Amino acid sequence: MEPVTPGTPGHRVVIVGGGFAGLYAARGLAGEPVDVALVDRRNHHLFQPLLYQVATGALSADEIAPPLRSVLRRQRNAAVLLADVEDIDLAGQAVTARGHDGHEHRLPYDTLVLAAGADTNYFGHDEWSDDAPGLKSIEDAVEIRRRILGAFEAAELEPDPVVRSALLTFVVVGAGPTGVELAGQIAELARDVLPQDFERIDTTSARVLLVDAAPHVLGGYHPRLSERAARDLRALGVEVRLEAPVAAVDAEAVTIAEERVPTRTVVWAAGIRASPLAALVAGKAGIEPDRGGRLPVGPDLTLPGHPEVFVLGDMASVDGVPGVAPAAMQMGRHAAAMISARVTASPLPDPFRYRDRGTLATIGRHRAVGQIRGLRLKGLPAWVLWLAVHLTYLVGFQNRLVVFVRWSFSYLTRGRSARVIPGRVSRG
Ligand SMILES: Cc1cc2nc3c(=O)[nH]c(=O)nc-3n(C[C@H](O)[C@H](O)[C@H](O)COP(=O)(O)OP(=O)(O)OC[C@H]3O[C@@H](n4cnc5c(N)ncnc54)[C@H](O)[C@@H]3O)c2cc1C
Repeated sequence: MEPVTPGTPGHRVVIVGGGFAGLYAARGLAGEPVDVALVDRRNHHLFQPLLYQVATGALSADEIAPPLRSVLRRQRNAAVLLADVEDIDLAGQAVTARGHDGHEHRLPYDTLVLAAGADTNYFGHDEWSDDAPGLKSIEDAVEIRRRILGAFEAAELEPDPVVRSALLTFVVVGAGPTGVELAGQIAELARDVLPQDFERIDTTSARVLLVDAAPHVLGGYHPRLSERAARDLRALGVEVRLEAPVAAVDAEAVTIAEERVPTRTVVWAAGIRASPLAALVAGKAGIEPDRGGRLPVGPDLTLPGHPEVFVLGDMASVDGVPGVAPAAMQMGRHAAAMISARVTASPLPDPFRYRDRGTLATIGRHRAVGQIRGLRLKGLPAWVLWLAVHLTYLVGFQNRLVVFVRWSFSYLTRGRSARVIPGRVSRG
């Protein structure tokens, strides 16, 4: 079935999600004879790879979250809607979204692009989410920053050494790139940034634990790079606990294997699960999602039986394609090329093929690891490349400039200037 009448004026494309996949799809449709409606429940795009820097005071939220309206300001065929998509009528080709005005809006489409990303996965233990927040949104990052910096503040006032030691214990669950980056940053905060700012406590005595059920940090990396990352983390003072599944989390402790570790700050970086919209669509289309809740798609990235529906990024299950930002961007571009070929009756692009340009993870100042086209990088070269890649892909020239200045300043002063603790210090 060909869902599109070639050359139809006003062909309506509804894109759900203004993350990497949705935004690149929208941009790829600039100048094409289509009307694009980009619907997101947030008013901003989010550069998730730098969220951990917001959580640890290195960057402030706005620097990695440009408003979608300003990103698409010059694109005349694109409109932005601030609304939460609640339902998708596959048969009737319409999306139902609750707008910022509180009202329900029905948005008919000729082509639907589903790119709503993923949520934190607690693997059946959603009850841990209050005590071990995940890092997926600006709110999460600001809350984690509040807890980390708040714990140091509370420790400064705490007379009981046992409680003080729990306050100065930070546990990061999940030793993938996010967990590694977070643990490294918390250790640097405690070791390099905060000592001069506190009088009663020795912040360098803080314990930072990075725990994972798996036997290696950075599981997908070459074993030598995993070992190097673990060594770098240990050199920063991080206690790396591997093959150590988390058995319980509460407000006062985390139980790692059999050991109860008193702590007030746990961050969950152990996994993600596709947006609940994937399960909704799977039910309606009679499709089985994969273990991560993602929707299997065809080689053209469309939903089986629904060539008018594209599923992209962290919502899509494509063999051999990881859930990373470059994959989402490439999928967004591919969907845009498919849609414009259809509406202009041009030859369709080749099936989607992921181009793996490599992966990089940073651990701390001058410390990073990466594998790029068979080349294994570590130390300073990997760190410099990491800085360059992240600056290049950050959306918006102004953000790139501001982040560059902030990083340069932090590098020279070993400071972290985005250290506002919003709201009350204590969680109690
Ligand atoms: C902390 C962290 C660090 C990461 N680090 C890296 C890294 O270093 N390198 C790398 O390559 N990848 C990294 N990733 C993964 C990468 O960010 C994701 O793979 C990528 O963002 C997926 O893009 P996406 O467009 O599918 O989803 P997202 O970028 O998550 O965008 C989804 C969008 O959909 C919107 N949305 C969701 N539900 C609804 C709804 N119901 N209605 C309306 N809008 C909705 C959201 O608000 C969001 O804007 C990281 C992820 C995280 C969380």
